[in-house]
Amino acid sequence: MRLVVLGPPGAGKGTQAVRIAEQFACADVATGDIFRANVAEGTELGRAAQEYMDRGDLVPDEVVIAMVMERLAERDCEAGFVLDGFPRTVAQAEALDRRLAELGTPLEAALSFDVTEEELLRRLAGRAAAQHRADDVEQTIRHRLEVFAIKTRPLIDYYAHRGLLISVDAIGPIEVVTKRILTALEGNRRSG
Ligand code: AMP
Repeated sequence: MRLVVLGPPGAGKGTQAVRIAEQFACADVATGDIFRANVAEGTELGRAAQEYMDRGDLVPDEVVIAMVMERLAERDCEAGFVLDGFPRTVAQAEALDRRLAELGTPLEAALSFDVTEEELLRRLAGRAAAQHRADDVEQTIRHRLEVFAIKTRPLIDYYAHRGLLISVDAIGPIEVVTKRILTALEGNRRSG
């Protein structure tokens, strides 16, 4: 499986990406997790990313693209991947397309998570309390939702034009959403 998951912060991408990667026995590549690990370890990459993350802004494209291209060259990605949190801009999507075209292994689908804004704010407030994520305080949450709307939402059209978009209703119990996703992906494989 070679898949990207798209959706605003709080849509449940991370939770579902783990489950999808398990089902298809492929790598789960979550750019936010990679950045957070680098911040925790105090690496150069972590230092480059931290101020953007704390503000709820996107880390510059060239930094993210270089990191993801390296990650996709690792062994475990040969079995496929679920990209969670990348691409987030059209430039990132184009870089990914170029690399996958070079490798002759194009994306199979882009999975878009549909959630209402009201539900997102409710979930993100809960996550801020539970995990103490610096970027989950309310003002930053609103900013991240704006950044999504401006920079990332255009990717829904980008993938729709390429015939790769699959939208799922992401409201409901985790297991129910997983089931919807797997049914949609399997249907897509049969028809594709
Ligand atoms: P996430 O856990 O996916 O919400 O990512 C947390 C933060 O990491 C984001 O708010 C960005 O600051 C940064 N980040 C993660 N992925 C990307 C990306 N593809 N492009 C730019 N910044 C990113």
